[in-house]
Amino acid sequence: MKEVQILMKFNEAKQLIEDLKLKINYHNKRYYDLDSPEISDYEYDMLLRQLESLEAMFPELISQDSPTQKVGGSAADKFKPVAHDIPMESLHDSFSKEEIIDFDRKLRANFPNIEYVVEPKVDGLSVSVEYRNGVLVRGSTRGDGLVGEDITENLRTIKSLPLKLNEDIEFLEVRGEVYISIGNFLKLVSQQEENEQKPFKNPRNAAAGSLRQKDANVTRQRNLDICIFNVQKVLGKNLKSHKESLDYLKALGFKVPPFYNKYNDINQVIEEIERIGELRGKLSYDIDGAVVKVDSLELREKIGSTAKFPKWAEAYKYPPEEKETTLLEINVNVGRTGVLTPTAIFEPISLAGTTVSRAVLHNEDFIKEKGIKIGDKIIVRKAGEIIPEVVGVSEHSTGSKEYTMPTICPSCAAKVIREEGEAAIRCTNLQCPAQLLRHLIHFVSRDAMDIEGLGPSLLEKLVENNLITSPFDIYKLKSENISKLERMGEKSAKNITDAIEKSKNRELYRLIFALGIRNIGKGAAKLLAAEFSSIDELMSATAKDMAKIDGFGEIMAQSVVDYFSIDQNKVLIEQLKNLGINPMAKEIIKKNIFEGKTFVLTGTLPTLKRESAAAMIESFGGKVSGSVSKKTDFVLAGEDAGSKLTKAQNLGVNIISQEQFLAMCE
Ligand code: ZN
Repeated sequence: MKEVQILMKFNEAKQLIEDLKLKINYHNKRYYDLDSPEISDYEYDMLLRQLESLEAMFPELISQDSPTQKVGGSAADKFKPVAHDIPMESLHDSFSKEEIIDFDRKLRANFPNIEYVVEPKVDGLSVSVEYRNGVLVRGSTRGDGLVGEDITENLRTIKSLPLKLNEDIEFLEVRGEVYISIGNFLKLVSQQEENEQKPFKNPRNAAAGSLRQKDANVTRQRNLDICIFNVQKVLGKNLKSHKESLDYLKALGFKVPPFYNKYNDINQVIEEIERIGELRGKLSYDIDGAVVKVDSLELREKIGSTAKFPKWAEAYKYPPEEKETTLLEINVNVGRTGVLTPTAIFEPISLAGTTVSRAVLHNEDFIKEKGIKIGDKIIVRKAGEIIPEVVGVSEHSTGSKEYTMPTICPSCAAKVIREEGEAAIRCTNLQCPAQLLRHLIHFVSRDAMDIEGLGPSLLEKLVENNLITSPFDIYKLKSENISKLERMGEKSAKNITDAIEKSKNRELYRLIFALGIRNIGKGAAKLLAAEFSSIDELMSATAKDMAKIDGFGEIMAQSVVDYFSIDQNKVLIEQLKNLGINPMAKEIIKKNIFEGKTFVLTGTLPTLKRESAAAMIESFGGKVSGSVSKKTDFVLAGEDAGSKLTKAQNLGVNIISQEQFLAMCE
């Protein structure tokens, strides 16, 4: 009986281990190689922990491919590999004070006078940088700890990393953490949102993604920072302790941890860990823990490493701070892409060193799934991520109110829609103030109305100064408005108003594309312009009419119908038409090909109605006459053509069929 139980447990553990390995490898890939994690670092650490303890119980189940047996990610093939002379080990993590006390107890048994340095652990990407005779020669990522990627050019763009040291030391290899400040991270995320790119989830991913760019210029624009925290190898200098080496690094011109004090008592170490923990959220960058390191370098040698970790250092990871509070209300913000995002407003609480009173609720499904009602007691968390989030409900309050998302946009009162398969609810009005700037940038872009000189920053200023509230206002701009705002010369301002004027004659497809109809890209706009000869014709078309177009889907067709069903959009079209912005597809493309030509129509054409043929001739600059004479250029003849055809034959006038006529129009 007992044996059976153990056997079951073994099988159970085996299955659990396999599941955990799969999960962790998946998240590893998202974290290290794709820079796009789905779970918080803390949740990841907990998965790894679970696997470790199962493997400790069943050591026979440890396999070489277990995530517990290797360090971090693999070197991607984007960059040249760099073998690390000194392995870049990762640190063992602790999640409780007891583990830190344990770490000390083991070491102190052999080395009673041991001293430690405690420093904050910056949350970024670990790199190695090498200097020869004081000059930066190479930099690389950690990779798997043994082989990393050569990112020298990208590292050179980091302003806080000296290219030349204050001393021409023979050789120095240092280890540091590349990170992005919270301010720069928030700027980057808002830029990404503006460009409709997927924003980075947290500063660590932003730093990693920016550092591993093929184009060093992109890295430069991200304004990364670096904190150097260890001497890996040095020739031409004798260093005895960690504190001494940090002082030396500082003197050489490196940015080092902001504090690194020495302690000989583990209780002081714990106090320092707590003090650093309270600073979280107050620093200009993200920290995910504190590191305790043996100070004496000689002692470090004696203590040595396991296969994976140095035994002379321990990282303490701060748990994400969670607190309970009361949900007061839910506000809805409209983002620049028109997505309505619910935000929880709650009784202010102090989290990770800052006071917070609002947190993201993601979307409607999230609120429903968690059963969140206004008045409930909720749990709010702030992990490594900058923006706090609502974890869930801790207690429903009597009389708490169910929340429903608004059906109209809180910014402009237009109808909102939730598309199938999408969690987001969007405002359908492209002139919604919340979306205006993004819409304007699109409207003037090269593939749309192509207005040169009217760039995003100028548009932003025009919007800020209330000079533009819709694309139509672009056409009312005067060069004085522009020159006053931009402090630019009158000539440059005049160039912009000239470009605006010129854009009035753009092709129909450009205008359709410029309107920014959802799901209608440049290609789809061209298909529409080929089928409908004017905006008016397009506006009166049904979804069915459009769905008939080869290459045009139902969703696209419905998007066009939805667009023209909104009053603000109809007004815009009307305003643009009044300005003379009303391109005719065929007229614009084949301007006046029949200019000066006279046509006579006779008989029944196979498919074209006589009126349509006449309209086409006129739209191409030709004239339609009722009778044939010497001045007639073409007779378009169909079946049962009578005397007009005979006369044309006698006069030697060109006689064409519908087929030939259409070919001429092509
Ligand atoms: Zn709106």
